[in-house]
Amino acid sequence: MNAPVTTPDTTAAAVVEPDLAGDWPALLTLAHVRMAGLIQENRELRDEIEQLTAEYCDTCGARPCVNPSFCEACRRADQNRKRRPRR
Ligand SMILES: [Zn+2]
Repeated sequence: MNAPVTTPDTTAAAVVEPDLAGDWPALLTLAHVRMAGLIQENRELRDEIEQLTAEYCDTCGARPCVNPSFCEACRRADQNRKRRPRR
């Protein structure tokens, strides 16, 4: 049994873009352009949230840490020096 053939509902499109109602290629192009814009906006907001929620580095004081591997190496070196005090 074949699925019933459906035709796109032009009502929603007519509400959003009355000038393009029924022009599905134009509506799809517009939808893709808007979606690309929203994806870009989402990425920028995610980066901003990451910046705002990042913690200050105890070693370099930057937020976020400028060079995590270097700062980690510095912290380890400091810990080793504390464990083995100079004579
Ligand atoms: Zn750091």
